[in-house]
Amino acid sequence: MSRGYNFSAGPAVLPEDVLRQAQAELLEWSGARASVMEISHRGKDFIALAEQAEQDLRDLLAVPSNYKVLFLQGGATQHFAQIPLNFARRDQAVDYVLTGDWSEKAAKEAKPLAQVRIAASSADSNYDRIPARAEWNLDASAAYVHVTPNETIRGVEFHDIPDVGGAPLIGDVSSTILSRPFDVSKYALLYAGAQKNIGPSGLVVMVVRDDLLERCPKDIPKIFNYAEHAAQGSMLNTPNTWGWYLAGLVFKWVKAQGGVAAMAARNRAKAELLYGYIDRSGYYRNPVEKSARSWMNVPFTLPREELDAAFLKQSEAAGLLALKGHRAVGGMRASIYNAMPLEGVQALVDFMKDFAARNG
Ligand code: PMP
Repeated sequence: MSRGYNFSAGPAVLPEDVLRQAQAELLEWSGARASVMEISHRGKDFIALAEQAEQDLRDLLAVPSNYKVLFLQGGATQHFAQIPLNFARRDQAVDYVLTGDWSEKAAKEAKPLAQVRIAASSADSNYDRIPARAEWNLDASAAYVHVTPNETIRGVEFHDIPDVGGAPLIGDVSSTILSRPFDVSKYALLYAGAQKNIGPSGLVVMVVRDDLLERCPKDIPKIFNYAEHAAQGSMLNTPNTWGWYLAGLVFKWVKAQGGVAAMAARNRAKAELLYGYIDRSGYYRNPVEKSARSWMNVPFTLPREELDAAFLKQSEAAGLLALKGHRAVGGMRASIYNAMPLEGVQALVDFMKDFAARNG
């Protein structure tokens, strides 16, 4: 058996070069005479690795100097709760824009901690679009505005960063970070679970503006306090050292590919190939409004649900893995993150053509 093309939504495909390097240095990393997983996070070797990974991410995203980069744990889900805990008072309004399942979950987790307002939502059209900015009903006094620039389940993506006026903009960029260039300074805080474009699960990368950190309350446990994590260089407690190491390798890989602009050119070509075929096929269907279609997650349905099982079985046999759609949507979903090569998407399209011809 050989490695297939892995279309999993996350944990997701990692660059093969990165996996090979990790394999080659698994037993003895650098000059440590031990695995990178077996050495102290406070030793000078690991600290150098950690600093280099941070610098590479700063370079890739052009992070301004008045932002901290944190390497945290807990998954994006923990931060759905930790963000309101740090940046809003219980009696304060926080604005959430609902564009799919993940923004819904983020808003739900904030409910016990602040006055959650739904500033806009496309739930009424089954999350098939981004509500137009003119429809957003923002509270000028809100502690922050929360958006999910890419909804991993429905495959809905913001292609521009909205202007939200004075309130700090917070973005859950779990499934879009590093896929294309964007202006970090439009956000006060960005966070991403690593298991799509960064590395293994169990690591969360956060980019946060210094003035926001000044809001972190002193009366919450330190382990939940972002300002404490920032003050201690994300080493308040033992970090996910293995995740940090792999993220560092992925950042180097993205740089070697030509950086985020090169990733964007490749991601655009992959998305155009797949959506172009779906639209022309008259067989497969993607329900998302064209202007809001994700470059990273492409859900599609077959003409009859009875065909799904055969499609999944045969695609898997052809080495095209993990195409089953999320249970909330049904059908299929192809996640085509940075590490998915164009050849993988071409192989998928070729299979889809053949399947349609055989099951018309
Ligand atoms: N936000 C988005 C956009 C996601 O795609 C996911 C997971 N797929 C999450 C949050 C939750 O991440 P985690 O499972 O790491 O908590």
